[in-house]
Formats: sequence, C-alpha cells, structure tokens
Amino acid sequence: MTDLNKHLLKLIKLHGPISVSSYMTEALTNPKYGYYINQNPFGATGDFITAPEVSQMFGELIGLWFADIWLKMGKPSKVHLIEFGPGKGTLMGDFLRVLKVLPDFLDVIELHFVEASPQLIEIQKDKFKKHIGKLNWHETVKSALGAAEDEDAATFIIANEFFDALPIRQFQKGDLGWHERMVTISEDGDGLTPALSPFPVHDVKLPEKLKAAEIHSVIEISPMADYITGLISQHIKNYSGAALFIDYGYTKNRTGETLQAIEKHKYANIFEKPGYADLSAHVNFRKIVDIAKHAGLKTLGPVYQGKFLNDMGIEERVKTLTKEARPQQIKDIISALNRLVAPDEMGTLFKVVGMISNAKIDASGF
Ligand code: SAH
Repeated sequence: MTDLNKHLLKLIKLHGPISVSSYMTEALTNPKYGYYINQNPFGATGDFITAPEVSQMFGELIGLWFADIWLKMGKPSKVHLIEFGPGKGTLMGDFLRVLKVLPDFLDVIELHFVEASPQLIEIQKDKFKKHIGKLNWHETVKSALGAAEDEDAATFIIANEFFDALPIRQFQKGDLGWHERMVTISEDGDGLTPALSPFPVHDVKLPEKLKAAEIHSVIEISPMADYITGLISQHIKNYSGAALFIDYGYTKNRTGETLQAIEKHKYANIFEKPGYADLSAHVNFRKIVDIAKHAGLKTLGPVYQGKFLNDMGIEERVKTLTKEARPQQIKDIISALNRLVAPDEMGTLFKVVGMISNAKIDASGF
C-alpha cells in the first residue's frame, strides 16, 4: 500500500467517496505524495517517453513553426514564450537552439515555464543555467499568463503532453440519467475501487449529442482543461500571439473511457498505486477548438502529429542530420522519424492544435 493510498483511505472514511477528478488530482499533484511531485517520470527507469525525448527534430520543428509565426506577425519586439509542463526541458532546448538561424527572434524572447514538479524544476534549472535571456518558473498557468500581461508583447505558448495530465470527471449512463464515477474503499477495506454515485447528476452540462447514448456509456469531461483553455484563449485574444498543443486525444465529442495508468512503460491498475503510476486521459481537442473559437481566435487543426511534422519538413531535417552521420546514428534518426510520424506509432494517436490572434496569418503544418 502506498502512502497516498493510506491518505486517501482515511479521507474517504471521513468524508465519503471522492470523484475520479479529485482522485487524479491527488494521485498526480498531492503536495506530499503526488506522482509529479515525488517521481521522475523520465528517470533511467522512467515510466514513459515523449516526442521531444525521441528526437531533437520535434522541438526544432516546433521552434521553426513559432519563428514563422513571429515573422508573419511582423516581428513583435517582445515575446513571452511560455511552456506548460516542460519535463526535462528537451523540447525548449531544441527550440532555442534552432532559433540560432533567426537571432532577432531569440533576442526578444522572455521565457516562462509552468511546472508542478520540484524535481523537474531542478533539472530544468540545470539545463538552462547558461540561458542568457530572462527565465521564470510559475506554479500555475494563471500566474504565467499574469506575468505575460504586457501590452508591448506577444505571447507564444507551447504544451506537449500537458493537457493529458489534467484531471477529468467521468459519468456513466444508468436508467435514471448520468451517474458520476467515484472512488471508494474496496470490500476488503484496504484498497481503492471505482463506484457510481447513487443518484444521477443534474448540475453538469454534457455534450448535447451524447445525451442519447446507450445505457452504461461513459463520458469524460475536463473542467480544468476547459478552464485553462479559456484563460489562454482570452489572453492571446487580448495580448496577441499563438499557441500550439500536442497530445493524444480525440477530435469529436464521443463516449468511451480513456483514463489510464502507466508504470515503467506498461499499463497498470488505475487505483492500485496512486502516486507511483502516471495517470492520464485522452484530450478532447474538439472542446479546445470550440473554446478558442468562441474567444475569437483563428484555430488550426486538430491534425495528426504525422501530418504536422511532415508539413513542417521533417524529411528535409532527416536528410540534413543523416548527411554526415555514422551508420548507427543514421539508423537511430530513421527509427526516430518512424516513431514520430508513422500511423501505427505516434503519428495518428497524437494530434496538434493551434490558435492565433491574427486571422490573416497562414500557418504552416496544418
Ligand atoms: N512536455 C514534456 C513533459 C510531458 S510530462 C515532454 O514532452 O517531454 C508532463 C509535464 O507536465 C511534466 O513536466 C509535469 O511535471 C507537468 N505537469 C503535470 N501536471 C501539471 C500541473 N497540474 N501543473 C503544472 N505542471 C504539470
């Protein structure tokens, strides 16, 4: 039994079952026992590997995407560049390195990281200790956006595999309506297990089209993702700029449960080891697009990650990188390319969505 297990058992004994959303919040970011607070998901025996860790090409092409937007925006004289959940800082390292081809852009960037993990902040601090520009860390999206409330600057935001870590609520259809899925104490008394709320919910707005779903269907929503998307969209609308989000997810409102636990690259039981396994859920890209559009932004995509990277010229990048490489390096680069773009790898599971303040700008990659 994990420490967090004990804490949650006590909590549920005192206060009753908690929602899946509260469970996810506790499991990932409990200040003492949360997964992102205590574990290093990227350590030697890490739990998962992300696109920037697969190849430098990923962060480089994202850097070039923002460079292109910066030029098309008429080279704003100051840019707040914010990354949500930078992990080991690999994406940003590759992003900034590729900008050496456009030093004028590099010069106007003030960098912000939003990071919940003290361990990862240490790794990021070490990686960027030679960074010459301004660099700030923020605990929340709201405080990062607050620091970027700057009439003279544009705001650029990048998030790779951040939204999937935001808590979701789950509802299951019963005869009387939609019941929230909760987490309670198992029958033997020393474990956690899912259970439905006894009465259907009335206070939650579910996608209209899904209301006619079959009995036992599950719907997931993420009020936190909606809230954050709303803050970002409003900020970009007010101060100008662009955002790019990349994650696994779906593009239409739909039923089905996607909450998963991953430990050491394998699926694990969601309720067994809170604090030790990574929990995540697929991202509703349709909702992100709707919120950004509603705020008056131009939206891009969602498109498959494979398409985005191909359109951004990943093949060209492979050619350049393999030109003077040794046979083993060439093999590694080709295998990384495959991992990032092939439909049976990350190519179609992962999607890219963008938003821009200026509707006239034609962005590449979409
Ligand atoms: N973008 C990186 C890391 C992805 S893992 C990459 O692609 O490799 C998720 C990242 O988001 C980690 O850095 C994690 O610590 C951070 N994170 C997760 N939930 C968070 C939250 N609620 N607030 C701030 N950071 C969070």
